[in-house]
Amino acid sequence: MAATIYYDNDADLSLLKDKTIAILGYGSQGHAQAQNLRDSGCKVIVGQRPGGDNYDLAVSHGFEPLPIDEATKRGDLINILLPDEVQGDIFKNHIREHLSEGNILMCSHGFNLHFGQVEAPQGVDTLLVAPKGPGHLVRSEYEKGGGVPSLIAVGDGASEETKQLGLAYAKGIGGTRGGVIETTIAEETETDLFGEQVVLCGGVSELVKAAFETLVDAGYQPEMAYFECLHELKLIVDLFYQGGLSYMRYSVSNTAEYGDYSRGPRIITDQTRAEMKKILAEIQNGEFAREWILENRAGAPAFKAIRRRDRSLEIEEVGRRLRSLMSWIDSKEV
Ligand code: NDP
Ligand code: MG
Repeated sequence: MAATIYYDNDADLSLLKDKTIAILGYGSQGHAQAQNLRDSGCKVIVGQRPGGDNYDLAVSHGFEPLPIDEATKRGDLINILLPDEVQGDIFKNHIREHLSEGNILMCSHGFNLHFGQVEAPQGVDTLLVAPKGPGHLVRSEYEKGGGVPSLIAVGDGASEETKQLGLAYAKGIGGTRGGVIETTIAEETETDLFGEQVVLCGGVSELVKAAFETLVDAGYQPEMAYFECLHELKLIVDLFYQGGLSYMRYSVSNTAEYGDYSRGPRIITDQTRAEMKKILAEIQNGEFAREWILENRAGAPAFKAIRRRDRSLEIEEVGRRLRSLMSWIDSKEV
């Protein structure tokens, strides 16, 4: 079944005219959503801790950042745009007791609502409005008169009014200019985790690493392996992005296309597909969420160790050297 998609005409910004929107966190999403809403005529306040660049940024954009509990108190719609792994604790310590009946508790990713780390009190509806793009794009597209497609979902028992306010909010950030897809908090959370684990972050990184190591172990030069297995991925992804699988296959050579059809299925095997199902089941039954929440509670030891190990891989060292030869790359270092 095709998704329901809402556009500008389906949303009424005037529903927000007497509401105060509290944006908690002035990071990637926070800075974009707060400014877009303000430019759309909404009353926006920002909750942001002092002492860091994001506080100064909010001030330089003309906001007067408040402590999170104070912003929560003053807001009618309260959007938690803090990193997902700190939301549970900050909610319990600085947000929950300052919510009042009729407030709407919002987020841009459903992880904490879905897995019970953020539980709205009685009389407070929950609402997700999630741009399908990073904050800087949410801001720059809005400024150009466009908007990044977004998702909308309401929590269990939320009223129709909450959904209409959600559509108005989505309009305020420019989302309805691109289209707002109706989903559920469960679907948004589960598909987001699945995509990043299986394809976008986990799948692609492991594929690139394994292929690079195969070539290097076979005696090929690491520079050649880097270009073939990592660098050129961008060209392929750009073609996917512009015209899907068919356009990529149309654009590459016939030899590459034949290699795709005949060898690809030997890389993603029945065993890989079975593992994908297992990973999905771990997301659905909360096993992944529990693991990640406990890992954070322990100070993230495994997470930090793996991060350190992978930063010193040969592919990273070779890549750094080669990128410095390509002046057109806006190369980054962490
Ligand atoms: P960022 O990491 O960019 O911003 C986090 C903000 O939270 C900063 O203002 C930061 O302030 C503040 N913060 C961090 N830690 C704490 C803390 N312990 N106490 C108080 N404030 C803190 O987050 P994102 O914008 O990336 O993510 C926000 C939400 O949006 C998440 O739910 C995410 O899943 C979702 N989302 C993100 C997208 C993206 O592209 N980034 C896309 C769609 C959804 P300080 O500078 O002081 O650390
Ligand atoms: Mg995502």
